[in-house]
Amino acid sequence: MVEDRVITIGEVQISPDHYIGGRRVSSERTFTDISPIDGRVLGEIAAGSKREVDLAVAAALEAFPVWAALGPRGRLPYLERLAEVIEARVPDLALVETTDNGSLYEASLLRVMKRGGHNIHWFAEFAVEKLRGDEWDTHHRNAHNRVVYHPSGVAALITPWNAPFMLSTWKVGPALAAGNTVVLKPPEWAPLTCSLLADFVEEAGLPPGVFNVVQGIGEEAGEALVKHPDVARLSFTGSVPTAKTVGRNAAENLTPVSFELGGKSPLIVFEDADLDLALENMIEQYDNSGQVCLSGTRILLHASIADDLLARMTAGVAELQVGDPMEFDTDVGPLIHPEHLERVNGFVQRALKDGASLVYGGGPHELGGLYYQPTLFVDVDEDSELFQEEVFGPVLLIDTFETEEEAVRKANHTRFGLAAVVFTRDEARAARVAEAVSAGLVWVNCFYVRDLAQPFGGTKQSGIGREGGLWSFDFFSDIKVITHRHDSFANPTR
Ligand code: NAD
Repeated sequence: MVEDRVITIGEVQISPDHYIGGRRVSSERTFTDISPIDGRVLGEIAAGSKREVDLAVAAALEAFPVWAALGPRGRLPYLERLAEVIEARVPDLALVETTDNGSLYEASLLRVMKRGGHNIHWFAEFAVEKLRGDEWDTHHRNAHNRVVYHPSGVAALITPWNAPFMLSTWKVGPALAAGNTVVLKPPEWAPLTCSLLADFVEEAGLPPGVFNVVQGIGEEAGEALVKHPDVARLSFTGSVPTAKTVGRNAAENLTPVSFELGGKSPLIVFEDADLDLALENMIEQYDNSGQVCLSGTRILLHASIADDLLARMTAGVAELQVGDPMEFDTDVGPLIHPEHLERVNGFVQRALKDGASLVYGGGPHELGGLYYQPTLFVDVDEDSELFQEEVFGPVLLIDTFETEEEAVRKANHTRFGLAAVVFTRDEARAARVAEAVSAGLVWVNCFYVRDLAQPFGGTKQSGIGREGGLWSFDFFSDIKVITHRHDSFANPTR
């Protein structure tokens, strides 16, 4: 690291530069990284352009044959070491991520950062166990089929700021385990923990070029990466509008894409539900200041329980502690960036103009800065912007329904389809509703239970494709079938 450019947070030193071919590379231009906690400048980050993207993709391409040839078993020790390094640095990661993106320190320290190491370790072991393909006979043609998974090449990974380390490792893990080399473009509003990941890769001894980071602005560094002809796979997590641009650009080279996008998920509570459990989960939707793609931001309550639950929800929201995310008793930290606060507040002010009724909050918090009041609306028109669009802030709405059919119809009345949350004690109803809602993930009487073996992704405009478990390997591999006629070899190997 070039000493005068190092960013120091607590005792942790972070490079503001790219990581390409196993070394740090700077750029002439930089962009400023601020902390959402108090707006202080954390540092000047290297602003990558086509030049740095070209260098990184070239380095990844050069490293690819050797990494790919190692096979899952040969890659395992490297990735196990990487997971160990990550696990040993969880407290540093939590400190840096909270400082950089304002998410709650307690959650980062106790849960979220640990998932980073687990993402790497789990996929490395899963590859040893599962990246074997399949084989069978086509009897009527006297033939044998064998399916093989080849690493696809350079994987470009682009991630958002709301959980940059966890979401990046969730792509890096399977991409590397499947034998690809990686160029990661971190989010410009929270770039620091992805830079630490490069240090960890170095410490774990991965060969140079296997993992590269290009920092930069989405429209410049991100776009150059998406358009690069040597990128074999593009895995993108972010918003729908950005995905439309990314999709158009990736189409130039027909680069296969995996898109994990936004949501406007329903949280449906039937009259027979455990209402205490439902209420607890309703309030949990303010987690990470509502900056969670999976949030159940449209709460649909059966009319018979709506008054009671609304009153209890309002009291619960009033008790949420807004403040410094480093404090363990804080429930709602700051929003990520002044531009994002403007965006969130714009939705709230337009909802009021559209005739929605405010039950709680409705504007910036008295703490100032990027702190926003947890906000709750009722009387939101189904076709209004607030019902239809992802706010990605601490803004929820409550609506009611009379019948199961109406609940499902309202749940599906958006262009999103990421998740759905259902509370009922009636198992048959749970099954019917889970079947009928348009969503990639449905949680019944629970929320946010994630298992790396599950497929993850959304229907409709919430995404394209699935990652997680074997679905990640399907995406990050070139899958080939080899068919031969039985008894056609002079020297059969088995
Ligand atoms: P965003 O779309 O603005 O940015 C995401 C990433 O794309 C960033 O790294 C950004 O630099 C990059 N980017 C921007 N323009 C680009 C371009 N033209 N070409 C290439 N890259 C470009 O999203 P955000 O504001 O960072 O994140 C919030 C969004 O992410 C929300 O919509 C949220 O729902 C979604 N999200 C989805 C999931 C999921 O798994 N489905 C998880 C987290 C967040």
